[in-house]
Amino acid sequence: MQVLKNVDLRPFNTLQLSARASRYAEVATLAELRAALALAGADPVFVLGGGSNLVLARDVDALVLRPLLPGRELLGDDGAHRFVRLGAGEIWADAVAWTLDQGWGGLENLSLIPGRCGAAPIQNIGAYGVELEAVFERLEALDLRSGERREFSRADCRFGYRDSVFKHEAAGRYVITAIVLRLPLRWTARLGYRELAEEIARAGVAEPTPRDVAAAVIGLRERKLPDWRRLGNAGSFFKNPVVDAALFGALRAANPGIVGHEQADGRFKLAAGWLIEQAGWKGRDLGRAGMFERQALVLVNRGDATGAEVLALCEAVRAAVRERFGVELEPEPLIV
Ligand SMILES: Cc1cc2nc3c(=O)[nH]c(=O)nc-3n(C[C@H](O)[C@H](O)[C@H](O)COP(=O)(O)OP(=O)(O)OC[C@H]3O[C@@H](n4cnc5c(N)ncnc54)[C@H](O)[C@@H]3O)c2cc1C
Repeated sequence: MQVLKNVDLRPFNTLQLSARASRYAEVATLAELRAALALAGADPVFVLGGGSNLVLARDVDALVLRPLLPGRELLGDDGAHRFVRLGAGEIWADAVAWTLDQGWGGLENLSLIPGRCGAAPIQNIGAYGVELEAVFERLEALDLRSGERREFSRADCRFGYRDSVFKHEAAGRYVITAIVLRLPLRWTARLGYRELAEEIARAGVAEPTPRDVAAAVIGLRERKLPDWRRLGNAGSFFKNPVVDAALFGALRAANPGIVGHEQADGRFKLAAGWLIEQAGWKGRDLGRAGMFERQALVLVNRGDATGAEVLALCEAVRAAVRERFGVELEPEPLIV
């Protein structure tokens, strides 16, 4: 394990923003992780995974620590679920593909999401009608302050829509070293998301397998989202705002085309992409950053954009949506 100084993080974030880390270390074992933390001493530590949910708006004056701990392991089953342990450093999309290769369903709707397994609980990753919470059993972590090991159950994580305890009280306090997922032994396809059901129907599959669902999800994602290796981005840049029924009613009366999905609590989740498009920002640039022409929710780096340019565009889009609809958009990636 080496601690490097003054490292450009551009290769390590999918928005491809340049920002320098005062110190940088990659760790592949718990022993290396402890050694790196000992070297950091009282200095701040910032944990970096695949850098796919971050805006590096400035240099990072901290030890930037990348937990690359490997591991894919079947722990056993309880008659209803099989339990699978994944090291924090495993690439999420590869781990999903590996479970499918073993013939285990459960993660197919979450195929092709970038990033590492250790970050998946941070925002309770979700796609095509499924969130991590639905398959989550527990995680293992190390307390950055005390160095002690700690487990978090599903309840401890307090998952919500793109949310968990790791964005609140526990923010920046722990490094997640592994996650344990529970995959159903009796699998049923989750096709509640209309676009996904349509994609499966188009493929002419009457009784889809986990692999069929994964193939449909991958096809949809490849068509909708830009490849971050070619066009830097962080996926959906804003959360879909959730508004109460009265506001939704008023918005629908004024905008008959508005897209909203009723939630279990009676509120409505609006499609942020639709709001951005109506506010005139789909395919529009500000400086060297822009809102993607095929999906208005995705902010892209047109080449050498700075963190400041990304933040300026973020604020311009928020202001336009606020002015047009009176709705506040919240960025999904962490702004560093
Ligand atoms: C093209 C594209 C598509 C995307 N699609 C989706 C999608 O469909 N659904 C979705 O939910 N997200 C999506 N995302 C966002 C992103 O992929 C996920 O949030 C992913 O889980 C981030 O993982 P990461 O390893 O890149 O985390 P990073 O961006 O490196 O870090 C994100 C946060 O997690 C913390 N963190 C990372 N690793 C650890 C760890 N081991 N321990 C403690 N804290 C840690 C960081 O400090 C930071 O706060 C997409 C991103 C892109 C670029």
